Amino acid sequence: MIKCENACPLGKFEGCCRCCPEFGSCAEECSERPDTCDESTFDEESGLQTFKNSQINVMQEICNIVTIKKQVEAKEKELKDKLKAAMELYGIKKFNSDELEITYVPDGIRTAVDGTKLKKLHPEIAAECSKVSKTSAYVKITVKGGDK
Ligand code: SF4
Ligand code: SF4
Repeated sequence: MIKCENACPLGKFEGCCRCCPEFGSCAEECSERPDTCDESTFDEESGLQTFKNSQINVMQEICNIVTIKKQVEAKEKELKDKLKAAMELYGIKKFNSDELEITYVPDGIRTAVDGTKLKKLHPEIAAECSKVSKTSAYVKITVKGGDK
């Protein structure tokens, strides 16, 4: 059900005209859309349905972009691996062209603090060295079904 801030002028229904049984044949029906009118309140079911209907094209576009991005990243990795192997073969450490600067970075060791272990063994130090910062809302998207 979608609620509306405005009352039905005919006093026949409590809610958005789009949910009213008279919609489609009512002379007083609203011509706006509940997803853009700023006067609607969606419950979980109507929100989900409207979200699905209004965002289907956006979701399809994101799905396509994420899939293409994955394919491009896989190709980039394949090409980088080829270059790495060639640089190792020919003993090249650095290469410059008009478009690229390529640097060979050898195997190494990286040291990082194990946060989980620190919290377990020294919770007071972990708390003392923690800082709280605000994060912005975002959308996490997982494209299902593997490569297209
Ligand atoms: S579209 Fe918006 S303004 Fe029109 S009836 Fe529905 S909720 Fe109300
Ligand atoms: S469609 Fe007509 S009867 Fe139904 S809520 Fe809108 S104005 Fe009222």
